[in-house]
Amino acid sequence: MPKLDFSALNKQAANSFHQQRNLIKQVCRGDKVLCPDCQQLLTLMPSDNKVINIKCAKGCTAIELELD
Ligand SMILES: [Zn+2]
Repeated sequence: MPKLDFSALNKQAANSFHQQRNLIKQVCRGDKVLCPDCQQLLTLMPSDNKVINIKCAKGCTAIELELD
């Protein structure tokens, strides 16, 4: 059984966190960003002013970010 490498796992989580932050920044800026899964355009959904919602047409990417 292979040894579990948690450092790699943590690094991966950190990477995706940064990717998500980047993606939010780009979408909020008005850039065209595609969903990494279905390659559909990600759109900023209107919601109340304390939450940012970013979704693709199929819903495989659904990012919700609470604003301070
Ligand atoms: Zn998608």
